[in-house]
Amino acid sequence: MTTQPTTFAHHLNQDPVPEEVRAAILADPGFGTNFTDHMVKIDWFGDVVAGTGRWSDPRIEPYGPLLLDPAAAVLHYGQEIFEGLKAYRHADGSVWTFRPEANAARLNRSARRLALPELPEELFLDSLRELVSADEQWVPDGDGESLYLRPFMIATEAFLGVRPSRQVLYSVIASPAGNYFGGPVKPVDIWLSRNWARAGRGGTGAAKCGGNYAASLIAQIEGDTHGCQQVMFLDHDRGDAVEELGGMNVFFVYDDGTLVTPELTGTILEGVTRSSIIRLAQDRGMAVEERRFTLDEWREGWRSGRITEAFACGTAAVITPIGRLISTEETIGDEDARPGQVTMGIRQQLLEIQTGRAEDPHGWLTRL
Ligand code: PMP
Repeated sequence: MTTQPTTFAHHLNQDPVPEEVRAAILADPGFGTNFTDHMVKIDWFGDVVAGTGRWSDPRIEPYGPLLLDPAAAVLHYGQEIFEGLKAYRHADGSVWTFRPEANAARLNRSARRLALPELPEELFLDSLRELVSADEQWVPDGDGESLYLRPFMIATEAFLGVRPSRQVLYSVIASPAGNYFGGPVKPVDIWLSRNWARAGRGGTGAAKCGGNYAASLIAQIEGDTHGCQQVMFLDHDRGDAVEELGGMNVFFVYDDGTLVTPELTGTILEGVTRSSIIRLAQDRGMAVEERRFTLDEWREGWRSGRITEAFACGTAAVITPIGRLISTEETIGDEDARPGQVTMGIRQQLLEIQTGRAEDPHGWLTRL
């Protein structure tokens, strides 16, 4: 079992990003290209097969390259998991994060699937707190801006046999984030992947592991060539059931006020945004159905006008209206689609909760 260290050592960066450079980055953060001055590192040694192991030496270090043995298991067998969440600056200057316990729980579900050690929730929360305390000045305060936090865990043991690594690194890096898709909210076109799947029964679709994203890139290239920024994956074995996008869950709004989202079958990532939207919609008195939703139903619903809105959701882009679903055979949706009322209403409410401008009815915020 894992035991839990309590205090983090701080090895501060003696050569931080110059203040004027940081100011320029924060003036236009973009997404995922600039990183703060520090990072978290915690080592693990043990044996997940025997159920033994220990997290040790939690520390804040200057942000920088990792020293990895070329035989490190992660480089060969992809034993790796990660998370993504954001820190928001509120009007009084305080910094908060949104449902971090849900990310801690998902990290541990991913860890179990990838034969990596679980990280105690308290240590996960402390790791975020320690990093944000070292790099507080990197949390932007502009509208829709945040500090994106990227916890990850990699197998570092130098061993070319295929078995769970006995040495692991958990780390957190942070990157100031603006609007994921850039500019004002507008519907995005989605490419329907007919040739490729990102997950299969018994596979790793419900885990947040690098391999899922590597497997989705070929479909993303296909989407790019058709002018689409995101790809929709289907479950062909379940009658072309709609699953999710490469990095977001999806919802459909019906004209009777029902919200439908694909059920969790083990091949879909359970989004924190997804579960929050389900709750907020129920608070609004909407009926929410988590069930099989097929491509045929989407097509029919759009043609008949019963489906009035479709949107994608995830931490990075919050909620984004879906314009059209495009494939080689057909296009579902209108070219001049405008963001729908339900989509934008829930989006607004979620953003206001996250940024401290609205009541937090479910106690979702944690101060860092
Ligand atoms: N599906 C996939 C495949 C994702 O990568 C993400 C982003 N983590 C999501 C859904 C949305 O999850 P969340 O709302 O927790 O960001």
